[in-house]
Formats: sequence, structure tokens, C-alpha cells
Amino acid sequence: MTTRELKEKYLKFFEERGHKIIPSASLIPENDPTVLFTTAGMHPLVPYLLGEKHPMGNKLVNVQKCIRTGDIDEVGDDWHLTFFEMLGNWGLGSYWKKEAIEMSFEFLTDKKWLGLDKDKISVSVFAGDSEIPKDKESAEIWKSLGIKEIKFLGKNDNFWGPAGQTGPCGPCTEMFYDGVEIWNDVFMEYNKQLKIKSQKSKVNDEYEYIPLKQKNVDTGMGVERTTAILNNKKSVYETDLFLPLIKLIPENAELDERKKRIIVDHIRAIVFLISDGVKPSNKERGYVLRRLIRRVVSYEYINFRYLVATETAFSEKLLKEVVKEYKPFYPELNLNIIYTEFTNERHQFLEKIKSGIKEYLKIRGEGKIDAKSAFFLYQTFGLPFDIIKELDPNKTKNLKPEDFDKEMQQHQELSRIATAGKFKSGLADNSEQVTKLHTATHLLLAALRKVLGEHVFQKGSNITAERLRLDFSHSEKMTKEQIKEVENLVNEQIKKDLMVCCEEMSLDEAKKKNAMGVFESKYGDRVKVYSVGDFSCEICSGPHVQKTGDLGHFKITKEEASSSGVRRIKAVLE
Ligand code: ATP
Ligand code: MG
Repeated sequence: MTTRELKEKYLKFFEERGHKIIPSASLIPENDPTVLFTTAGMHPLVPYLLGEKHPMGNKLVNVQKCIRTGDIDEVGDDWHLTFFEMLGNWGLGSYWKKEAIEMSFEFLTDKKWLGLDKDKISVSVFAGDSEIPKDKESAEIWKSLGIKEIKFLGKNDNFWGPAGQTGPCGPCTEMFYDGVEIWNDVFMEYNKQLKIKSQKSKVNDEYEYIPLKQKNVDTGMGVERTTAILNNKKSVYETDLFLPLIKLIPENAELDERKKRIIVDHIRAIVFLISDGVKPSNKERGYVLRRLIRRVVSYEYINFRYLVATETAFSEKLLKEVVKEYKPFYPELNLNIIYTEFTNERHQFLEKIKSGIKEYLKIRGEGKIDAKSAFFLYQTFGLPFDIIKELDPNKTKNLKPEDFDKEMQQHQELSRIATAGKFKSGLADNSEQVTKLHTATHLLLAALRKVLGEHVFQKGSNITAERLRLDFSHSEKMTKEQIKEVENLVNEQIKKDLMVCCEEMSLDEAKKKNAMGVFESKYGDRVKVYSVGDFSCEICSGPHVQKTGDLGHFKITKEEASSSGVRRIKAVLE
């Protein structure tokens, strides 16, 4: 079965059962500047899951294009892609667990539809915890259908949401074939809310789960994974969707299977990102696109060694193939625009690494290339490690990625110490915990300005591995409600798993961007500006975590006077 047939069958199955087909939304979420990309079919439907009426009714189905940057490190394994299509059906207050699970089961196993072997299907169900009961209902339904292997898992695996600190959420049940997850049915049945308490209480543990009036079903099935399963393949990359693409990459000992998989995965993501209006840049979505393109170009460059790849480049053939495959479903794909953006970025990148190669040849003439010189080439010319390694494999046999990483870490440490001294950023050390608390301090300052007002500026900061301390301009004691609101705002940003982006620019540019900064202190001509989504933007020397999702739970432990007109907050990450 081809992916096209799978998609058609899925839509037909649910259409016959009263669902209306809705179009795939853009990869760039609308009205939601805080999230980079659409990561699932439910994403564009959030308002309707929250109770808004959908113009097409209360049973919906579609094929949604998705990008998951969070999976990038897993790309090249058997089952993960950066770009993929997700099939989804939704019941908005219309049907519930029994109908949803029975439909999933019928679609998977009935000969008329996918006809998969029932005995190879296993499922997982929410195990329950101190706050929410076990999802016995789903387990019973699966049992009645004859599914033998039912695993019970906790919140991390089998519970969805809420998207923010509060809101709709509920247990889910995942379906596996031969151990590979292909489909997930989410049952939104609770509303996570702040508890209303009459007595004075501490500012944590104040949530409760109230059963929702409108219960929603939200499901997601991966097109590529299911196609692979249906064709008895051991990986998405072995399907007809990827094999012809992989074949377009010329044989080369330097490009192993994993790298080839990464190339074709990235090419697909590049095609769809450019088509939804993303341009390569140093920021957010543009930065993701830039990294994808540069990785492909690096591998391509390795393939051609000293030739600066132009007409012979295979990436263009790949772009063309992907557009050909998807154009019938996604008319927004425009090969000319894709070529232009891709080629411009490639050209720029190759220009940059060319001077690096010149320097490389000079160093090689003087002796062998070791981790130190490799790092120098990377640091000064942006020459990627992979390219350094592959340019002249004989000379770089002993050059190990671990040693290169060590150099990089050492350098970061040195520059941290240097910048800490220079900018008095108030960091005690650069441990992981301190880095996290540092990012949390940025979120805290932004949240304080939102809750208390624009008169709030940073007056001082001190971070240890245990806690952060922030002094800021504000003359009254904060109320309990204000503290709670600030905490919630920070935790919402953490939940959203926002990217922390760093950009270098002139001080004037930074000021124009309204970046927060301690302007009395002496910055250089060029400064680093760290932004967290659209939530926070500060001149800062770093270091920071890459994504806010790494922070854990934020809690204010103390709010007190520091000096006249200055308050002091201490906070922790739990
Ligand atoms: P996994 O744990 O395998 O990464 P997940 O729990 O993140 O999967 P969901 O968020 O439930 O997956 O997404 C629904 C479906 O989308 C999955 O069952 C799978 O078929 C598909 N899917 C999710 N992530 C990817 C990916 N990176 N590449 C291809 N398909 C994916
Ligand atoms: Mg995942």
C-alpha cells in the first residue's frame, strides 16, 4: 500500500462514519507566536477543543503536515522524521472512548481497510496516579476487542496536556504494531484548574482536575510509519517514499546510511518550510531552516570533496522529486521559490567554508589536524567538524568527535568565565543547574514586567546551583496573587518548550529591538541578544538552555525588600 492509498482510505473510512474532511493547516501556527511549528493535527484545532464551535461540525478528519524539531537528534533511526504527515480524527463532544477505540481497531484490522494482524497489535493505557484515576474504561474496551497485550503507563507516556499550565487534558491510549508506535487516541476529559481556597495557603500544589463538560477525542496516526508497517518494512526510510530519494545520492564511502537518511529527511522538511514562507535566518524558524540546509550542504560537500558543488549537486534533484510527490496534495509547493532560497543559502554557506578550507590546507601543510586546530577552523571559519574530518580522512584518522566536543566545552567555559567577569552576569558557575536558573531569570523578569508593569528593570542578579536571586525596581510588596500569576506565566513558557535563540548584533540594533539590558554597564559594540519565543528578549552573555522545556517547574520561594524602591525575589526550579 502506498502513502497515497493509506491517506485516501483513512479519509474515506472516517467520512463514511460522519466525519467532515478539513484541510491541512500551515506549518506556521496562526495566532500563536509562541510555538515554532505545527507538531500535530490537533494543534490548529485547539480553540475547538476548548469549546469553540467548528464550522464543519463535531466530527472531523484530516491529513496534517507536521514538523518536530524536538525529534531532530533521533532522525536517521528507523522511525523518526523531522517532517511527516499525521492522520487525525476528532470527536468534539460527539463520540467517546468506546466509539473512538472501536473505530481505530476496525480501521487497523478489518480486511476492507488496513487488514493488520490483530495479534501483533499491542496498546498502552494510562495507569493512573495520585491525582487522576486509572483509565480502566479504555483497557476494558481493548480487552473486549481481543487485544492481549495492554501496558499501563504513567503521565509521561499516556497523558496529554494541558497545553499551558491549566486547561483541557486527559489520558491517551497508544497503539503499537510489532512494538512500533503508530497511532495515539487522546481523551480530553479533564480541565486542570487552579483550586479555589479560602484559607491562607502556600503557593504550590493548588491545581485540581475537574471533569470537562465537552469531552473530546483527538487522534494522531503517522503516515510514514504506518506505510512502512503495511509494507513489512523495518524502517520508514525503506518505503517507496524514501528509497527513490536515497538512490539519488551518489555512492560514497563517507556518506553512510544514517547520513543519507538525514539528507532525505531534511530535504523534505526544507521543501515544506520554504513553501510555508520560512526564509533562512539567524532567528527562530529561519534558524531551523538554515541549520537543515547547512547540514545537507555539508554532507553534499563532503561527497564532492574539493569540488564546490554546483551543477552536480544532488540536493536539487531531491528537492524536485519531493515537490513532484507532494504537489498534488499541497499546491503551495513552488519549485522555483524552493530552488532560489535553497541555492542562495548554499552559496552563502559555501563561500564561508571556502576560506576555512584554505586555512585548513595551510594548517595541514604545517602538520596534522588535531582537535585544537579543528576547533579553531570551526570557531573562526564556521567549518563544520564533519567536513574537517572528511576532507582528508587519512590525516584526520585520529581526530575524534569527543575530543572536538571537549575543545568546544573548554572554550565555552573560558568565554563564560571571561564574560562573567566582564559583564558581571552574576553567575556562580556554569553548571547545568545554574544555566537553567539563568534562563529562568530571564523568564521571571519578563513575567514581572507583564504582571507589575514596564517600570520593572533588573537591578541585580545572583545565581547559585540552588536558587536564583533577582533584584528589580518596584516599590510595593507583591501580593500573593501577583506572585502566583508570575509563577504561572513562567511555568506556561516552560510548558511551551520555547526555543532560546541567541543573535549577535550592534548595541543600537539591540535597543531598537527593545532588548532588555543594564545599559549603564559597558557592553561592547556588538552584543549577544537572547530571546525566548516572543516572551523575553535580553542583552546577555549567556549561557542558556536551548529550550525552556528543560527547566522543570518554577517556584518563587521568597519576595522581600532589598533596598528602597527595589524588591528581591528568590526562586527555584524543582
Ligand atoms: P514516539 O514516542 O515514537 O516519538 P510520540 O509519542 O512522540 O511517538 P505522538 O505525539 O503520539 O507520537 O504522535 C502521533 C503519531 O505520530 C505517532 O503514533 C507516530 O505514528 C507519528 N509520529 C510522531 N513523531 C513522529 C516522527 N518524529 N516521525 C514520524 N512519525 C512520527
Ligand atoms: Mg516523540
